[in-house]
Amino acid sequence: MIKRSFFGLVKPKLQYEIIDEAQAEPVRIKPGKQIMLYIDQPDENAGNALFKIGDPVKSGQKVTLSDGSADYLLSSKSGQISKISPFVGILGKKSTSLTIDVDGESSQSRDESFKSACQAPSLENARDFLAGLPGKPDFNVFFDSEKPVKAIVVLGADDDLLGITNQYFVKNNIIAIKTGIELLCKITGISHAILIVPQQLEQVAGSSGAIIKTVDSEYPSAHPELIMQHMLASEDVDAKSKSGIAFFSSEAVCAIGAAYTTGKFFLEKMVTFVSKDGNKRLVSVPIGTPLQDILNEFNETLNDGDRVVFGGPMKGVSVFSTDTPVMPDTDTIIIQDKRQITEGSDIACINCGECVRVCPANIQVNQLIRFLEAGQYEEAADQHDLFSCIECGFCSYVCESRIPVFQHIKLAKHTLESMKAAEESNA
Ligand code: SF4
Ligand code: SF4
Repeated sequence: MIKRSFFGLVKPKLQYEIIDEAQAEPVRIKPGKQIMLYIDQPDENAGNALFKIGDPVKSGQKVTLSDGSADYLLSSKSGQISKISPFVGILGKKSTSLTIDVDGESSQSRDESFKSACQAPSLENARDFLAGLPGKPDFNVFFDSEKPVKAIVVLGADDDLLGITNQYFVKNNIIAIKTGIELLCKITGISHAILIVPQQLEQVAGSSGAIIKTVDSEYPSAHPELIMQHMLASEDVDAKSKSGIAFFSSEAVCAIGAAYTTGKFFLEKMVTFVSKDGNKRLVSVPIGTPLQDILNEFNETLNDGDRVVFGGPMKGVSVFSTDTPVMPDTDTIIIQDKRQITEGSDIACINCGECVRVCPANIQVNQLIRFLEAGQYEEAADQHDLFSCIECGFCSYVCESRIPVFQHIKLAKHTLESMKAAEESNA
């Protein structure tokens, strides 16, 4: 809930959701007839793709388009590939969608490739097998010799509003987190591990063996970049260049620990599902499950004008198909009735300064937005701190003119980064 000062001079406050003492057990969604995997590679590569329509896939098998690619997912179910098609996602990002017709529960078969690798845990086999686990752990940061990692930070707090996914694992699986942290320390040779939790979970987090730091309940204190700036400043990290820290979600750490101790992958994603009536439930769902299967479970129907958001209310993205699958990093899904939606507008900025007051990066957002709306992205970056933005979405939320400031910022950053990548590849 937003709290505004009567005089409008103090920052409005947004509070994070805190997991309930009496949180109900997650609802397990049974596997449907199909799962869908979006691979982060355009299907121009499909000519020499490793998979073709009709190919069998085992549960836990790596699914990628080209041999040795870092872009892969792990199939949560066995079955047969029935469709391969291009998919254009947010900001025009091209990827490839693979549909798998799922085998019946009694005929599920498991891929055993990881079994021998798990006997000798290493960073290399973690990168080659585990990047598709729930929570989407990123091991590439450890292979950048110019930015050595000095600390492993486990996020046991949720960094967007309404979500309780990360908190669930701290509250209920702290020993699995301990195992995962020990394994990560072992394979990376880094002994410095920090677990970030809301104050309410500080006591239970103590059993993890990690150093415990707490974030307060006010948004966006659990944002990884703010954690780096405010809480890890003494850890010899460079918050500006975002180096020195490897972040993992508490869910990912549990899944890493379980993979190495059992030789099997746990490929169900924990998602905070918020239905139209505002009811929040945790659901455990095989990665790749289409949204429609979750809607069916809760008899939730979508009408014209309703909105589906993957991610939290501040940083999430709208999706436009009920085929959209749960991915390894889908923490929250929100269904909004059209009557709850505040539409954007084309009203000009009234210079109220609300966006400047809330911006945790201290950007003069009221000036930045003028350059963004005019498409002057290079000026926005050179003169108005575009790249200092940590993408918290707070400015859009408070904007009196309902300007989609955050969306303008994301588009500008994406455009400049694409231009830079194109220049580098031409060079
Ligand atoms: S999205 Fe960026 S500009 Fe907007 S409030 Fe957050 S940090 Fe500031
Ligand atoms: S961009 Fe929106 S919040 Fe910021 S000064 Fe203009 S009207 Fe106010």
